[in-house]
Amino acid sequence: MIKKITVIGGGLAGCEAAWTVANLGVDVDLYEMRPQKNTPAHKTSYLGELVCSNSLKSKDPETPAGLLKSEMQDLGSLILEAATYAHIPAGQALGVDRHLFSSYITEKIENHPRIQVIREEITSLPKESVCIIATGPLTSDALTQEIQQYTGYNRLYFFDAISPIVNAESIDMEKCFRASRYDKGGDDYLNCPLTEEEYHHFVSELLKAEKVEIKAFEQNYYFESCLPIEVLAERGPMTLAFGPMKPVGLMDPKTGKRPFAVVQLRMENQYGTLYNLVGFQTKLKYPEQKRIFSLIPALHNAHFERLGSIHRNTYINSPDLLTRKLQLKKNPFFFFAGQITGVEGYVESASMGIVAGLYAHAFVADKKRGEPPHTTALGALLQYITTPNPHFQPMNINFGLLPPGEHRDKKIRKQKIIEKARSDFKEWFNIVIPAKAGI
Ligand SMILES: Cc1cc2nc3c(=O)[nH]c(=O)nc-3n(C[C@H](O)[C@H](O)[C@H](O)COP(=O)(O)OP(=O)(O)OC[C@H]3O[C@@H](n4cnc5c(N)ncnc54)[C@H](O)[C@@H]3O)c2cc1C
Repeated sequence: MIKKITVIGGGLAGCEAAWTVANLGVDVDLYEMRPQKNTPAHKTSYLGELVCSNSLKSKDPETPAGLLKSEMQDLGSLILEAATYAHIPAGQALGVDRHLFSSYITEKIENHPRIQVIREEITSLPKESVCIIATGPLTSDALTQEIQQYTGYNRLYFFDAISPIVNAESIDMEKCFRASRYDKGGDDYLNCPLTEEEYHHFVSELLKAEKVEIKAFEQNYYFESCLPIEVLAERGPMTLAFGPMKPVGLMDPKTGKRPFAVVQLRMENQYGTLYNLVGFQTKLKYPEQKRIFSLIPALHNAHFERLGSIHRNTYINSPDLLTRKLQLKKNPFFFFAGQITGVEGYVESASMGIVAGLYAHAFVADKKRGEPPHTTALGALLQYITTPNPHFQPMNINFGLLPPGEHRDKKIRKQKIIEKARSDFKEWFNIVIPAKAGI
């Protein structure tokens, strides 16, 4: 039997993975390249450092992030233990003192009898050990190249921008129409038309909106074909109308005419509960995004499940490469965890660390361990990142990823989704987690 698992990356996912494996009774070598080599965003040598905000999203267990956290808690999450320790008042959000938070994680990991922390950059993948790769969105260049070669992709998805995702129920269907450009592709898109006046108002408000500053290291990752809408708008009042908002090949059935401009929405998941705004990557501040997008008539009451953002993000094409146990199809000795798998956010990344830990452990201990049902928050995320998807983009947890249920009342439907998630998680947990495990 293999006696040790290598974890590469001591961020949120790597620490969760190491903690899970070690608590299940297998030794771990955890490699972290800081402080010898830094990423452009990390500032300290702590394990589990939060690179930006100090919030782990909502504490409310009836929110998607709350539901995910409750599942992680049951699985013995170290980052949630650290968050409880480092908790600061932040309203409904789980705010933490970032230094207390990361120092707690560092101490726990460094003092775990089954974990050895090695401060070293890994530049090539280990040949003879079971390995969890959790090097995050800022994976070092050498390892990025190695993974590229190994996975057969000539580039990882160097991600420059993500566009917002809207909940289907909040779209005003009276103010949009289904069609594909030139009728190619059936009714796949929802088209939100704007009149000439609405378009110019939208552009002028967009130009005035507050933007998030771009970090120096992010500049290199701007691609001409994927520019933020605010950058396009700065190039001239009609640039968007000839770009992502072009109305060509579309006829509004209500007016019988081609609209002046159009925002296209593309289905994001198999349930049709989520739509993304095509070509609407943006770096506006979050409240500004909500304000500006509400100027699109069909989105005047839209509820956004994910807002747009731009930063370097290295992630693999998980739907092609990974099984639902986060194991590389091509080589079962390799598992991936965290943001590099195509989830987005601190909590989501950490949760994928726990999952990779559970399955890497099951692999070395030769144990059968079924996957969490897709009706749970963990299972829904896993399903999203491993289901074939030609437009695969990072995703954070949201209720649109879970099966929608059929009740007509929105509140009751949400309640039923949560109840089902809880009971299915409990059932799965009781079967797959050994009673004596330290988690
Ligand atoms: C600039 C930026 C801001 C972000 N802001 C937020 C935010 O505010 N809120 C939010 O929820 N999410 C945010 N994210 C997204 C994401 O949730 C975080 O990046 C999160 O930390 C990902 O967790 P992870 O464990 O996958 O990666 P990380 O936490 O980045 O951990 C990866 C670790 O691997 C190490 N490493 C990399 N390469 C090697 C190597 N070759 N050998 C050894 N070690 C290596 C790194 O030093 C790092 O410690 C942000 C991302 C970026 C890039």
